[in-house]
Amino acid sequence: MVCIYCGSGTSVVNSRVQKLSNGVWRRRKCQRCNAIFTSIEKPYYPTSIVISSNRSTVLPFLPEKLFLSVYECLKHRQNPIEDAKHICDTITRKMISSSVDDNEIKNTELRNLVNVTLNRFDRTAAIHYQAFHTNK
Ligand SMILES: [Zn+2]
Repeated sequence: MVCIYCGSGTSVVNSRVQKLSNGVWRRRKCQRCNAIFTSIEKPYYPTSIVISSNRSTVLPFLPEKLFLSVYECLKHRQNPIEDAKHICDTITRKMISSSVDDNEIKNTELRNLVNVTLNRFDRTAAIHYQAFHTNK
């Protein structure tokens, strides 16, 4: 990875595995300007997991779309961004473990997974989610 400030090469000075979000956190130091910055390596889900529907459509799983959907339901909370981030990590972990055989999850299963996870965390958020995401 190149330096975000000058574009020169960098070296890793510290690295930690993030088990909950399945990522690797790294502190990098520029070999030219000595700037230090953080990078995070995570799986790229749109090419790994697909969402299918009863209408025979298959779409790539977009973590950003899930985040926005969950975030909208958590706006009443004090830290909706952080809460949405952690809940999306949980949902993604559960989703991947349930789609391990074929890398595909039905949109109804995903909605149910989001609903169950939100309901355990915040009942109001789950009700908000149900109002906009019904399984028809
Ligand atoms: Zn630099």
